[in-house]
Amino acid sequence: MTATPVTRKDVLRRTAVHAAVSVCSSVVLSLAMAHMLFGNNPDASVPVGFVTVSVVGMGVICSSLLGGGLSYRSAVLLQQLSQVRAELLHLSCTDQLTGLLNRRGYDEAATLALTKAHEAKMPAVALMCDIDHFKVINDQFGHEFGDRVLVEIGQVLRSFAEQHDMLVARHGGEEFAALMIGISAEQAVQHANALRRACAATEVASQGLSAYVTVSIGVASSQVEMNLSQIMRSADQALYIAKHGGRNRVARAEALMDPIAA
Ligand code: GH3
Ligand code: MG
Ligand code: MG
Repeated sequence: MTATPVTRKDVLRRTAVHAAVSVCSSVVLSLAMAHMLFGNNPDASVPVGFVTVSVVGMGVICSSLLGGGLSYRSAVLLQQLSQVRAELLHLSCTDQLTGLLNRRGYDEAATLALTKAHEAKMPAVALMCDIDHFKVINDQFGHEFGDRVLVEIGQVLRSFAEQHDMLVARHGGEEFAALMIGISAEQAVQHANALRRACAATEVASQGLSAYVTVSIGVASSQVEMNLSQIMRSADQALYIAKHGGRNRVARAEALMDPIAA
């Protein structure tokens, strides 16, 4: 659902309409009441206290109507404003193509998760996953098909993340980042290999074209309370090793000289 943004002009216009309605209704009410009480006789004598009470009563009724209307409107406006804010926040953290978190969303969520993990003295493992020879896919099948590949691989990552309580994001281009809390580096390597196999087994088919792609994954576990950029850099180095080891494989940062092939 998309909320309509409310501008300052809208607020001023609505406030003016409410004020005008209130003034008109107070005039109409006053005239109607005077007519009811005194009829058409211009010589009728009116007690001063009665007039005072009538005017005060009318004022209270009109200001209550106006105040109530304005309070209701401002509550509605505030609600719309907070909806728009939430939507903007969601958009600014979401990758439009895959629907996964984008780099910004990942950095925020992963930093928080990493801080909590450190406080709870739990291990944290980061994954950097990159589609192999993606440029060739684009060149051979076209950019649109390349986008389809990103969506499908993103979907494989998303369902894997849901099953294994993993934070996942499109980090940029054809790279995806993930963070897992509370598991050892050895378990993370097993997960990464399962993910790698799931990607390799996914057929991407669109508009009569079909292809399979593979991914390479770098795995790094958090050493002595590394911050997010340190652990991601470490996973990136491991990814580099996986690429140079022949692609379609997983490499661990702590064993850079001993990459783990499937
Ligand atoms: P490697 O195995 O070493 O990772 O090779 P690669 O071809 O995957 O890597 P390279 O960095 O040479 O090329 C990445 C390509 O990804 C180039 C770029 O045009 C493409 N790319 C980046 N973002 C998008 C996107 O959103 N959609 C599509 N279709 N292509 C993209
Ligand atoms: Mg690549
Ligand atoms: Mg890349």
